[in-house]
Parts: sequence; C-alpha cells; structure tokens
Amino acid sequence: MMTEMPNKPELAPVPIWRCRRQDCKAWVREELASSSQPSCPICKGEMIRSMKHLPKLVKKHKAQKKKAPSDPWENV
Ligand SMILES: [Zn+2]
Repeated sequence: MMTEMPNKPELAPVPIWRCRRQDCKAWVREELASSSQPSCPICKGEMIRSMKHLPKLVKKHKAQKKKAPSDPWENV
C-alpha cells in the first residue's frame, strides 16, 4: 500500500561549499555563499566544493531573467 506524503520535501543535489577540516561541520549552499571562494565561517579555513542532498528552496519570487534593454546612455 502506498502512503502519499504531500508535504514530503523534495530532495535535490545542491552544490555547496564545505569546510575542508574533517572535524568542522560548517557548510553553506553555493548560491548563498558570500563569494566565489568562501572561507569557513567557523574556523576561517579553506572550503571545498561538494554536493549535498537538500530540500529544494522554495522561491517565492521568480528570478528575473529578463534582459535589460540596452542602456540608453551607453552610446552617448
Ligand atoms: Zn571550518
């Protein structure tokens, strides 16, 4: 018998940064990282890219992918 769980979070592999130190559990979603090469918020050490299965982020606002019209001032 199948039991449906409508509220079950959908897990997706998400790129993350995690601390290189094995005894440090710090990690951050890549999309939330403050820079393209973040340092560990706990031990300030290097972070390495990894993947983690996480519930999908629910985005309430649609990402704006509209291309901005060409800047009217750029040819001035
Ligand atoms: Zn760390």
